[in-house]
Amino acid sequence: MSYQMPIFASLPVAFARGQGAWLWDTHGRKYLDALSGIAVCGLGHAHPAITAAICDQAGQLLHTSNWYQVPLQEKLAERLCKLAGMDNAFFCNSGAEANEAAIKLARLHGHQRDIFTPGIIVTENSFHGRTLATLSASGSRKIQAGFEPLVSGFHRVPYNNLDAVRQVAENNKDIVAVLVEPITGEGGVSIPDNGYLKGLRKICDDRGLLLMLDEIQTGMCRTGKWFACQHEAVLPDVMTLAKGLGNGVPIGACLARGKAAQVFKVGSHGSTFSGNPLVCRVALTVIDELEKGKFAQRAAQLGEQLLNKLKTALSGIAGVKDVRGRGLMLAVELDRPCKDLLQMALDRGVLINVTADNVVRLLPPLIFSDTEADLLVNELTGIVRSFLEKK
Ligand SMILES: *Cc1c(COP(=O)(O)O)cnc(C)c1O
Repeated sequence: MSYQMPIFASLPVAFARGQGAWLWDTHGRKYLDALSGIAVCGLGHAHPAITAAICDQAGQLLHTSNWYQVPLQEKLAERLCKLAGMDNAFFCNSGAEANEAAIKLARLHGHQRDIFTPGIIVTENSFHGRTLATLSASGSRKIQAGFEPLVSGFHRVPYNNLDAVRQVAENNKDIVAVLVEPITGEGGVSIPDNGYLKGLRKICDDRGLLLMLDEIQTGMCRTGKWFACQHEAVLPDVMTLAKGLGNGVPIGACLARGKAAQVFKVGSHGSTFSGNPLVCRVALTVIDELEKGKFAQRAAQLGEQLLNKLKTALSGIAGVKDVRGRGLMLAVELDRPCKDLLQMALDRGVLINVTADNVVRLLPPLIFSDTEADLLVNELTGIVRSFLEKK
């Protein structure tokens, strides 16, 4: 019997320590980590600069309060805004909270323009978090069921469909914002057509809507740019970050630009832990290391290499529907549900993920070496083959 609420269907393994792209379980067995704690530990495990930053900061100051100035928070806001082309930042402790801030910002923006029931366009198969507002925004009945009444004001359209966005925006004068993932994460690693984000930008500009991009999974060099919207040279009005920003310490951010950066005033929003010296120090170190190691370029280059090798290795296997990816966000779509594949991978000492029932998702750390990438291709090919043969 466990004293924990049975929310997570955890695999029967616990890890005792990690190093780079490798984890050791409590029995001393070694695993190749191709998930990075779901795109969190981009710099891998036990990165010396991160460890040093945590230890040093813990010896100085962990937390004061946002009742006082937090110089590290100010510094992090500036670094992130300069990288993302944004104007200001609000920090929080998770991805859901970052999106919660974005949703509140959009609503307040509406109210400030005398739109008292502001609506936000969201997409099918999206994932924005598990709080009431963010699960309502998410395009997944599975995470909503049983939690009704949902938060209202979300208008759902198919992903990668500009006409649908245009139509909803035209027919509803209460729409104030569009919230989308540049590439869906939990929804199955769907990569929209080139021009999708540019098209959304244009619709938002034409109608005075806020373009809000959820870069919680795609941000921080994961897709081969600092932020996925940079593949299309699109600047959103609001961008949310979390996951890779802290390499394992809990931090999220909601960045805003232009008129969106003017919406929140003193007292509009807040959080006790948000942007404390510890998490800001770590996030600043993450940015330093990502810059020093040119990890955006590395993710692009290694991602392309991995994608090509996976395509070659998996081509012609009946049951493999698609192999796709951008940077180090990769997916192998099968023709059947494949949760059982996770245990098989675990038995072979490889950590991967299955999302949207039939999509094997790979989110290796950005520090992955060529050798580790080749090992992953070989192992995954074997795993997929034996999984498909078994059924
Ligand atoms: C993980 C994720 C979230 C939620 O982040 P949490 O930290 O789990 O609250 C939101 N949006 C996207 C795109 C995500 O991948």
